[in-house]
Amino acid sequence: MTDGQPKKRTRDGARAQQPEQADVDPAQQPAKLDDCRRCALWRNATQAVPGEGQRHAAIVLVGEQPGDMEDLQGKPFVGPAGALLDKALAEAGLKRHDVYVTNAVKHFKWIARGKRRLHKTPAQREVDACSYWLEQELAKPDVQVVVALGATALKAVLDDSHARLQDAFDKTIERGNQRVVATYHPSFALRAPDPDTRRNVYEKIVAALQTAQKLALERKAR
Ligand code: SF4
Repeated sequence: MTDGQPKKRTRDGARAQQPEQADVDPAQQPAKLDDCRRCALWRNATQAVPGEGQRHAAIVLVGEQPGDMEDLQGKPFVGPAGALLDKALAEAGLKRHDVYVTNAVKHFKWIARGKRRLHKTPAQREVDACSYWLEQELAKPDVQVVVALGATALKAVLDDSHARLQDAFDKTIERGNQRVVATYHPSFALRAPDPDTRRNVYEKIVAALQTAQKLALERKAR
């Protein structure tokens, strides 16, 4: 392992011999998320966290990856960032069950700090591996607008490792027949250092959700 995460140990405490890629197959095309071994993130996660929400949603929100609580509960956006997202959705006139919520990467990547598991940003190769699942979610014909929450989500949604969040703010980007709106990840609104930044980030998230709703309604009216 290379991520600072604990390796499995044998009964006598020695590090288990674990060939780095023996249980990873980037070419795998699994039918079920739980069977996915396309990258190594499954090894240290509790479970894969699938997307959730309205089956025929016109708006799909894409985050980065499950957090600690999401990993334990098997549901996306159930932690503090999820609560903030629900608040922003309400302020934008939307409800969680109006939309579909998912992540670019379906397994929790973390590093140990004492007893805590701290989020670690997924590598581009892991985002690329997990696009196998994201593309299936975004390929649904009802999807009109995709909201990328944060830089990792934007890169995944646009399939562009050079995409920059700063360049995408306040724009509507074409993705085939779909529109993409980019904003901050809700967790950034929670951990920003000062109240003004937290407020500004939150307002930008609300504004992006309002734009997404407007775009979806425009499409529906055609
Ligand atoms: S993170 Fe994605 S690609 Fe990697 S094992 Fe999990 S589901 Fe598969």
